[in-house]
Amino acid sequence: MFRSLHMKVALIMLLLITSLMAVVGTFLTTSVSNFYMDSFYEQMNDMFGSSEDADGNTVANNPEFMSTLRSEAAESDGSERLQNVLESNAGSLGIDYRTRNYYILDENGKFITGSDEAGGLLLDETPNLTAGRNGQVGDESNITADYMDVAIPISGGDNHFIIYIKDTRTTVDTLNAKLFQIIMQALIIGLLTSVLLSFLLSKTIVSPIEKLTEGAERMASGDFGNKISMESTDEIGILTDTFNHMAGVLQDTISAMENERNKLDTLFLHMTDGVVAFDHEGTMIHSNPAATDMLGRSLEGLTYEDLFSDVYPFRDVVALQRPGYAEAEMSVRERTLELYLAPFSDEERGGVLIVLHDVTEQHRNEERRKEFVANVSHELRTPLTNVRSYAETLRTTTDIPRDMENGFLDIIINETDRMTRIVQDLLTLSRLDSGQSEMNMARFPFDEAIDSVVRANALEAKRRGHQLTCTHDALPLLYGDRSRLEQVMMNILSNAIKYTPDGGHIQVTAGTEGESVWLEVSDDGIGIPPEDWDRIFERFYRVDKARSRESGGTGLGLSIAREIVNRHHGTLTIVEHQGPGTTVRLCLPIRQEN
Ligand code: ADP
Repeated sequence: MFRSLHMKVALIMLLLITSLMAVVGTFLTTSVSNFYMDSFYEQMNDMFGSSEDADGNTVANNPEFMSTLRSEAAESDGSERLQNVLESNAGSLGIDYRTRNYYILDENGKFITGSDEAGGLLLDETPNLTAGRNGQVGDESNITADYMDVAIPISGGDNHFIIYIKDTRTTVDTLNAKLFQIIMQALIIGLLTSVLLSFLLSKTIVSPIEKLTEGAERMASGDFGNKISMESTDEIGILTDTFNHMAGVLQDTISAMENERNKLDTLFLHMTDGVVAFDHEGTMIHSNPAATDMLGRSLEGLTYEDLFSDVYPFRDVVALQRPGYAEAEMSVRERTLELYLAPFSDEERGGVLIVLHDVTEQHRNEERRKEFVANVSHELRTPLTNVRSYAETLRTTTDIPRDMENGFLDIIINETDRMTRIVQDLLTLSRLDSGQSEMNMARFPFDEAIDSVVRANALEAKRRGHQLTCTHDALPLLYGDRSRLEQVMMNILSNAIKYTPDGGHIQVTAGTEGESVWLEVSDDGIGIPPEDWDRIFERFYRVDKARSRESGGTGLGLSIAREIVNRHHGTLTIVEHQGPGTTVRLCLPIRQEN
C-alpha cells in the first residue's frame, strides 16, 4: 500500500505537519512557562531584592517597601501590620488569592497569618523556605518544580518573621493546556489540509510519472510506435522528450541489428561451410543446414560434448585468446571435415563458434594426384627398365643370333613407342586440364564422322575375325571439334575390338534423342564389372592390367575421351548390356551453348 508514490507523498506530508506541530507546541509551552516564571521572580526581586549601586554598596530595589516592612515588624502586633502592608501591595506582588498567596510565618517557619489560611497550615518544606528559616533570602527558581516561591526573612526589633510567597503555577498550566488544545486543533486542520494537498501534489507529479512508466512498459514489450505525449515543459517534460528520443534511437538500432541479423541468417543459411555455435555452457544455440548435412544428423538438443569433445576440449577453446582460433580435423562417415574453433565474447555471455569445411574432395584430389604421380612413374619405369635391360644384353652379348638381335630391337622400339604414346597422352590430358587445348568448333555431319571411324577400324576388326556392323539413320549436323570427337569414337571402338576375343560381334548404333545425338558401341567381349564402370575413366585405371598393356593400351584413352566429351557438354558412360560384353554410350548436345 505504501509503495505507491501517492501514499508516500501523503505520508511525508503527514509526518511533516505532525513533527512541525510537535516542535511548535513544545516551543510555545516551554516559552510560556519560562516567561511566567521569569516574570514572577522579576516581580519578587523588584519588591524584596537588592542590587549594588555605583559605589559597590548593596541597595534595596524598593527601599521604602523594605523599611516599612521592617518598621512594622518591630511593633508588638508585627504580623498583622505586615499583613496590612502586603495587602496594600498585593497588586505589585501579583497576589491573586487563588494561584498566588502570601504567608507570614514566624522565624521557625510556622504559619501565623496569610492570604490563604488553609494552604498556609499545610505548607511543604521547599529549599527556599528552608533558606528563609535559616535567616537567608530564598529566591532560587526551580524549573522542574510545579510551583514558584520566595522566602524573605524580615526582622524588626526582636521580632523575626518570614514572608513566604508561593505561586502554584495553575495559571501557566491552564494556559499551556489551552495552548495544547489550540495546537491539536491546528494539527487536525493541518493534517486534513496536508492530505488534500498531498493528493493534489502527487497528482501533478505522479500522473506524468505513471504515464512515463506506461510508455516505458510498452517499449519494453517491443512497441516503439507510439511516442509518449506530455504537455508540460518541466523536468518531467524534458525527461519524456529524452525518453522519446532514446526510444527512437533504440528503434533505429534494433532495426539496424535486425537487418544485420537477417543478413547473417541468410548468409548462414546458404553458405556451403557449416556453422555451429554453442553458449558458454556448451549448449547448441545455432546451426545452419550445411552443418546438419556435414555432420549427417539432426543437431537439435545436442551439446558440444556430444559432437566435438573428442576432437577438441570445450574448455581449451573457451580459453583461447581472441582473435585466435584452433584447427582440427574430424571424419564423419565418408567425409573429412576441417574444423575452425573460436571463442566469441567474454566467458560469461559468450561461447564457441565452429566453422566446418568439407575437405573430402580436396583430400581425394590430393590422393588422386599422389596416385597419378605414382602411376606415371610406374608406367614409364616399366618400359624404361625393359629398354635398358635389352640394350645392355645387346651390348654385353657378342655372339647373339641375328634374328634374336632383331627381336630385342623390336622390343626396344615397341617400348619406346609405348613411352611416346604415354607421354603424348599425358600431354593431351594436361592441355585439356589446363584449358590450353582449344577446341576447333565447327558444324559437321556426325554420321560421316561415325562412318569414317568405323571404316578406319574395319581392317583391324577383320584381322581379329570380328563381325563389325554399323547402323544409324541420317543424323543432324553437330557443332563440335570433329577430329577430337573422332578420337573419342576411335578410342571406344578400338577398345571394343581390343577387349573382345577374336571372332566377336561389335555393333555401332547411333541416333537422335531430343536435342542430343547418341552413339553406342556394343561388344560381346570380356566385359567390365559394374563396380568399375566409373573407375575406368580414371587415369591409368585398367580392369585387367596385363591384358591392357599387352594390347598396347596406356590406361589414359578413356580419361582423355571423357575430358573431350565434357568440353562438349556431353556424357560418356558404360550402360546396361544384355549378355556378355560391354556397351559404351556417348551422348552429345546438337547445339553448344557457347
Ligand atoms: P587402355 O589404353 O588400357 O585401353 P582405356 O582408358 O581406353 O585404356 O580403357 C581403360 C580400361 O577399361 C581398359 O584398360 C580396360 O580394362 C577397360 N575397357 C575399356 N573398354 C572396354 C571394353 N570394350 N571391354 C572391356 N574392357 C574395356
